[in-house]
Amino acid sequence: MARIKSLCVYCGSSPGRQPIYLETAQLLADALVSREIQLIYGGASIGIMGSLADGVLQRGGRVIGVIPQALAHQEVMHSGLSELHITHSMHERKLKMAELADGFIALPGGIGTLEELFEIWTWSQLRFHQKPIALLNIAGYYDPLLSFLDHIQTEQFFKPQHRALLNVDTDIERLLNTMSAQYQSVIETDILGNSDLL
Ligand code: AMP
Repeated sequence: MARIKSLCVYCGSSPGRQPIYLETAQLLADALVSREIQLIYGGASIGIMGSLADGVLQRGGRVIGVIPQALAHQEVMHSGLSELHITHSMHERKLKMAELADGFIALPGGIGTLEELFEIWTWSQLRFHQKPIALLNIAGYYDPLLSFLDHIQTEQFFKPQHRALLNVDTDIERLLNTMSAQYQSVIETDILGNSDLL
């Protein structure tokens, strides 16, 4: 049976105001390692990004970082990863992360996290890929965004089936189970790789 082997996590290069953000990143690290899922992420050692990577490594998991040369200093490139890819540009970074991953999860973060999440979601809406995408809504952090997404749908700039491409949950295990089931059904219907983009 095909299973998710790699997940890309988009999250803040800051730790955020509340300890629960970093604490939940550690719970996610735990869940990834116990499911033998390797982490793909932006290669930084700071904020939630760094904490998540450390959490996976400390538990014996594998972490692949992808960082543009220009950010290696600014985001303090992580020096202890299982694998590190240094790219020429942000676009190349995002494409590489997307290629390496079987699915995508966003944790709390800033506009960089939002940009990455929305790009991979729009690629799915355009059917460039069918990999599962999820938002882990910790401590209601994303509630205002979810309200705005309702508004977009009400105003008919967004079809319900495209909204449904984003799985939103507050529970890590349930979210990973949902993503696994989606991945499995995509593999079974053999529609995963219909794009030159990923
Ligand atoms: P932030 O959520 O703003 O803390 O950023 C999280 C990560 O997203 C960092 O590794 C940023 O380098 C990255 N990021 C910021 N802007 C962009 C962008 N336009 N495209 C891709 N990644 C970005």
